[in-house]
Amino acid sequence: MKIKLKRDKFKKTRGGSSRLLAVKCEKCDELLCYYQKDGSGLLKRMYIDRIAKIYTDIDKKLACHKCGHILGMRYIYEKEKRPAFKLFKGSVKKKIVKT
Ligand SMILES: [Zn+2]
Repeated sequence: MKIKLKRDKFKKTRGGSSRLLAVKCEKCDELLCYYQKDGSGLLKRMYIDRIAKIYTDIDKKLACHKCGHILGMRYIYEKEKRPAFKLFKGSVKKKIVKT
């Protein structure tokens, strides 16, 4: 996958290590986006600026373009004033992708 990972203050505050994830719909297995996850821990939200490549439509909601399953809601992560999607528990599957 030819995606360059971003290096900025957000990456730094999360300890420096980042991975690229292929994010898929839990229900139908459709690929939704490639996402840069900074730091360790669970994927609870997806920051808009970290979505490297998107295949589904994004609006106020994050939904699967194939089956319509709602995956998350758009909001602002207050601590950093950063637009993101809050993911519903168990709504997506992810896999680490080599960059
Ligand atoms: Zn789906």
